Amino acid sequence: MAELLDSQSRPLRDLRISLTDVCNFRCTYCMPADYDYKFLSDKQRMNLEEIDRFVRLFTQLGVERVRLTGGEPLLRPDIVNIVAAISSYDLKDIALTTNGQLLAKHAAELKNAGLRRVTVSLDAVGPLVFKKMSGGRGSYRSVLEGIDEAISTGLTPLKVNSVVEKGMNEDQILPLADLAYEKGITVRYIEFMDVGNKNNWHKEDVISSKEILETISSKYDVEPKDPAFYGEVASHYNFKEKDGGIGLISSVTQPFCQSCTRGRLSAEGHLYTCLFATEGMDLLTPMRKGASDDELLELIGGLWQKREDRYSEERFDLKNQKRKKVEMFHIGG
Ligand code: SAM
Ligand code: SF4
Ligand code: SF4
Repeated sequence: MAELLDSQSRPLRDLRISLTDVCNFRCTYCMPADYDYKFLSDKQRMNLEEIDRFVRLFTQLGVERVRLTGGEPLLRPDIVNIVAAISSYDLKDIALTTNGQLLAKHAAELKNAGLRRVTVSLDAVGPLVFKKMSGGRGSYRSVLEGIDEAISTGLTPLKVNSVVEKGMNEDQILPLADLAYEKGITVRYIEFMDVGNKNNWHKEDVISSKEILETISSKYDVEPKDPAFYGEVASHYNFKEKDGGIGLISSVTQPFCQSCTRGRLSAEGHLYTCLFATEGMDLLTPMRKGASDDELLELIGGLWQKREDRYSEERFDLKNQKRKKVEMFHIGG
């Protein structure tokens, strides 16, 4: 079969699946605590068999890496069975992004079910800034325990995701690099993004990757590393003569839309072709109405071929200032 390409010649290689829109945190930059959220019902969310079938279909279209995300994916009671089902496919990677709160409890069974590695989100080293950014939920200690347990279980290479927001946690850039150095892991610093419409984003609140790298270089010797694969979102730097390093995700200051190979399936089975999209294509309704594999492949392939998204390159165009965007906890990071 000819390779499926979008209108900018980008293949579909990565699938991010949001397992739930519910979360046990209220991070200021994603799901601010001052809103009353309406969540999907269990019936509206894709079940295990539906997720399994979607993964099978997407692999037929070229997907080689799957990431489970949310909301908080570890809140799904069937998370271990979902991982086990997906791990039967010939994939280069099966990863999960989590806030880490429930990770210590689940790490071993996830590894046994076939999960290869985890990314744990942690924006601060220390309880005070942590609480400020998680909306007062969760415990910093539990996340650290989750990281340690995941490393000892072999869910590696483990990455930590840290969103850096001015006025909130820029004083955590070096302590987070210390954590990477001590544990021999990678901390990826993410520029604060204008996902959704609820996080009160202003471009003045973005600390650029360039500034972050300057701060880290004031203490650590780091050297650039080649991308692991086409379309990798972070630029990586290794510590010299030591395991671990840092990554920089510069969606705002150095957009990487040209090599964006990611599709996103929301918890209710809608396919989004961009993190900043307004709408997705409902694939679950046709699946539940009995669509055949060929009919579903046709829908997915047709949408991908028409894909024109390159929001991060057009972010500051006037037409995008008032755009209604899907929330990140809805489609996953
Ligand atoms: N709940 C899980 C977690 O936090 O890891 C998975 C879902 S979360 C939406 C996925 C990733 O998106 C997290 O690493 C989070 O830090 C990142 N994220 C959420 N909102 C963001 C924003 N406004 N800018 C940059 N990254 C963001
Ligand atoms: Fe929840 Fe993750 Fe969003 Fe934080 S970033 S509110 S942990 S979904
Ligand atoms: Fe991909 Fe959209 Fe992000 Fe560009 S803005 S890199 S197209 S998800």
